[in-house]
Amino acid sequence: DHVIHVVGGGLAGSEAAWQIAQSGVRVVLHEMRPERSTEAHRTDGLAELVCSNSFRSDDAANNAVGLLHAEMRRLGSLIMRAADAHQVPAGGALAVDRDGFSAAVTQALTEHPLIEIERGELTGLPPGDWAQVVIATGPLTSAPLAAAIQALTGEDSLSFFDAIAPIVHRDSIDMSKAWFQSRYDKVGPGGNGADYLNCPLSREQYHEFVAALLAGDKVDFKDWERDTPYFDGCLPIEVMAERGPETLRYGPMKPVGLTNPHNPTVKPYGIVQLRQDNKLGTLYNMVGFQTKLKHGEQVRLFRTIPGLENAEFARLGGLHRNTFLNSPKLLDGVLRLRTEPRLRFAGQMTGCEGYVESAGIGLIAGLFAAAEAKGQALPAPPPTTALGALLGHITGGHIETIDAGPRSFQPMNVNFGLFPPLASPPTHGPDGKKLRGPEKSVAKKQALSARALVDLDGWIAAHVKLAEAA
Ligand code: FAD
Repeated sequence: DHVIHVVGGGLAGSEAAWQIAQSGVRVVLHEMRPERSTEAHRTDGLAELVCSNSFRSDDAANNAVGLLHAEMRRLGSLIMRAADAHQVPAGGALAVDRDGFSAAVTQALTEHPLIEIERGELTGLPPGDWAQVVIATGPLTSAPLAAAIQALTGEDSLSFFDAIAPIVHRDSIDMSKAWFQSRYDKVGPGGNGADYLNCPLSREQYHEFVAALLAGDKVDFKDWERDTPYFDGCLPIEVMAERGPETLRYGPMKPVGLTNPHNPTVKPYGIVQLRQDNKLGTLYNMVGFQTKLKHGEQVRLFRTIPGLENAEFARLGGLHRNTFLNSPKLLDGVLRLRTEPRLRFAGQMTGCEGYVESAGIGLIAGLFAAAEAKGQALPAPPPTTALGALLGHITGGHIETIDAGPRSFQPMNVNFGLFPPLASPPTHGPDGKKLRGPEKSVAKKQALSARALVDLDGWIAAHVKLAEAA
């Protein structure tokens, strides 16, 4: 009689346990609260929301997270069912009554005949006789378990902090000012000597930028985050700037080894480099620009950089406590640890970000685990779906850095930049009129969403037998 152990009863673990049980396989769900809590949780409820009560946009036609909601509903998600049942008014967003939501998840799992809930902390690797395990202990995984995972996977395989540089949609960068070139035209593995996008700053622009950085509004660390020291090599740019006005010119804004083809005779005083962030080449990250500036300040300030005046950000910079794996290296395509496949991971610790994304990866991990227990093969959802795109970011869509810099895999929210581009992007509206800038971008998102739902339905019909809604 096969049992799957799910460790962590948060957003991901609750959804994974539900999906496994709905597939007809027994589950033991292990949750350490209330015996032990985290710095952010307050209750003993399963799927507790630690901060905001919002699942963000519910607009499946225009928004990637709204699309993810829709996909999860089609797969019988418990998290979405409980969220829909405990919705509170929030415009186009899906916000929930957090206590009602958590109580509904807890009740559904407690009453499920195939689920047993065990309260208690897992303080090391799962016992050897647990043949199949899903670990979903989240961004605040307890210290003994994190240490055991780190010992198993290796020193730089587990991060304890996000040091996130902003990520920009490639097609929002002004190429009449920016240009492709690697420093000293260096050709690395998989590169062609033109792997970076460069944005030039004059002396005045540079000094104005540094002054604005120093003056900018920053987010405070939480008390328990303050004790964790900055890692070398991922200092926030504003902290670097505090060390002196020229510091950034010797760090991430170094102007050497690069020639501006738009203006070859004038040497830039500082250069901001962006590096390809996904295999598709639709997203670029601002190299070395991790920051604790407030999000609004980042948008305002980074749009003063020549070439980024109209930049659209797939995610903004940040720095906070977050335990996550270097998943593209460690996990296989179905979220199992390559070196020890009985262990599967889910939720934020795999490198997604957000309540919905964590639950979404929990859902997929649950389906993969149940299929494996039943001796069935379940292919990953198509990369054109929100679930598949997010899974791709985690298990392989991300490219390792081209040069020898620090690895750059960072958690991400779902966004349309993770989706393969449309074969033929819309050019004309239903009325036959040619689409312009903003209209074109709306039409593109709608076409990506429509494609996703068609492909998801095809995948469900071919591979997933959905249980009757309980
Ligand atoms: P969790 O929901 O944290 O679930 C992990 C569970 O594992 C917890 O119940 C924990 O008690 C348990 N656990 C940990 N270690 C062990 C162990 N050794 N043994 C047994 N059980 C264990 N996302 C948003 O979308 N909106 C927000 O506003 C938001 N705010 C956040 C604020 C903070 C402070 C943090 C840290 C994250 C926030 N996130 C937010 C990001 C993230 O989406 C949530 O943390 C989300 O809950 C992650 O889901 P999860 O299932 O991976 O982890």
